[in-house]
Amino acid sequence: MSLSVAIIGSGPAAFYTADALLKSDADCRVDMIERLPCPYGLIRFGVAPDHEKTKNVMRAFAKTATQENFSYYGNVEIGKDIGLDDIREMYDAVVLAVGAGSDRTIGIPGEDKKGVFGSATFVNWYNGHPDFRDLDPDLNVKGVVVLGNGNVAIDVARVLVKTPDEMAATDLPDYAADPIQASVLSDVYMVGRRGPNEAKYTNVELREMGHLANCVPQIDAAQVPDSVEGEMSDRDRRLTEKNLATVREFVDRQADEKPKRVHFTYYAQPVEILGGDQVEAVRFERTQVKDGRAVGLGEFFEISCGLVVAAIGYTSKPVADTPFDERGGIVTNEDGRVAAGLYAVGWIKRGPSGVIGSNKPDGKLAAEQIITDHGAGAGKGGRAALEATLTERGVRAVSFADWQKIEAAEIANAGESAPRKKFVTVGEMLAVLG
Ligand code: NAP
Repeated sequence: MSLSVAIIGSGPAAFYTADALLKSDADCRVDMIERLPCPYGLIRFGVAPDHEKTKNVMRAFAKTATQENFSYYGNVEIGKDIGLDDIREMYDAVVLAVGAGSDRTIGIPGEDKKGVFGSATFVNWYNGHPDFRDLDPDLNVKGVVVLGNGNVAIDVARVLVKTPDEMAATDLPDYAADPIQASVLSDVYMVGRRGPNEAKYTNVELREMGHLANCVPQIDAAQVPDSVEGEMSDRDRRLTEKNLATVREFVDRQADEKPKRVHFTYYAQPVEILGGDQVEAVRFERTQVKDGRAVGLGEFFEISCGLVVAAIGYTSKPVADTPFDERGGIVTNEDGRVAAGLYAVGWIKRGPSGVIGSNKPDGKLAAEQIITDHGAGAGKGGRAALEATLTERGVRAVSFADWQKIEAAEIANAGESAPRKKFVTVGEMLAVLG
């Protein structure tokens, strides 16, 4: 008998789990179920369009997907086309790898004003996610505030200020490229509630901000600490010192060097979004860092802007019929085990942090747990049962070979230097398949 495993989701955590199962000694069949026709989750919709190299991992995932004991069922929505309970009955083990695709709220007055977006929404929009392609943000604004000091905040700031030439070899969809490039945007304010030494972005991303064609980084020397203090691992100290050195280089850059500026602004927490229907400014309270936390000082200031992107981290949506830890924004789990035969990996398991490769150990652990818990499998219906149900319900599942046709069309449609021209609706993707 072979062990049958269904993985829900198709991002990095899903593929690393599939790979670990298929590489194990267990006789195992793995079926991946994805709501959209296209696989790869955050690799397609999260990684910045101008960081194509980061997306190379898709090639490794495609290798996994073309193995004999693997099947892909795209365009199949759990909870709509088929229930999670149905899937759990059909398979020995089910792995939730659905990520953290929602925005955390800032929790301040005015955040529902027009022109205020969470980074999950905004990044999905410029990355051509079918659910967000109609967002239509007004980018014809001079000032933008990006809240947060993580890599997503840097991605958003950079994509907004890069020139058409800098974005030519990317898969930024036309509907996003056109308003970004036509925008009168001159100043992006990236605001962190703590200081340069507590910022979460990595040094490669930070340094890149000093090498943009049309945009210069700005930092107030008074906000730059003299050194890196406090207890931390040697590795963290090295990385923080690197960031501090880069920040110091930015202090000397002149505001009029280039037509656009990204202002790295520290020690300020947002307290209110100001304006009428539409955002006009953000009010901040100055902070100091005490015991690693931002503490308000009771001094306030405002930054005028027509657009706010809150890049303050993502959260997951509860999964139907599954215990959910609201505070942590994750499925309740013990080291990945959720319930009998149900497992979690990636951001739905441990929250939205880490890089693509951070999901690899999750996949390995889940594969080990599944094999330990289920041995050779109980002879459940697995793939045959899933396919019979989908056929009976008239669901047009997209196989991996189907996806490869869609992908080939995206590549064929791309401009000279672009890697692909993404289809941005499910209808367009399915139309390729006739
Ligand atoms: P993140 O790294 O956790 O950064 C979130 C930022 O938001 C932090 O600066 C945090 O400040 C701030 N923040 C949180 N709540 C806030 C509030 N209420 N008000 C003001 N600021 C607030 O999250 P992320 O940028 O979304 O990235 C998610 C993960 O993806 C990270 O692990 C990241 O490295 C990874 N990623 C990597 C890349 C890359 O490798 N190029 C690109 C994109 C994303 P505090 O630190 O004070 O909490």
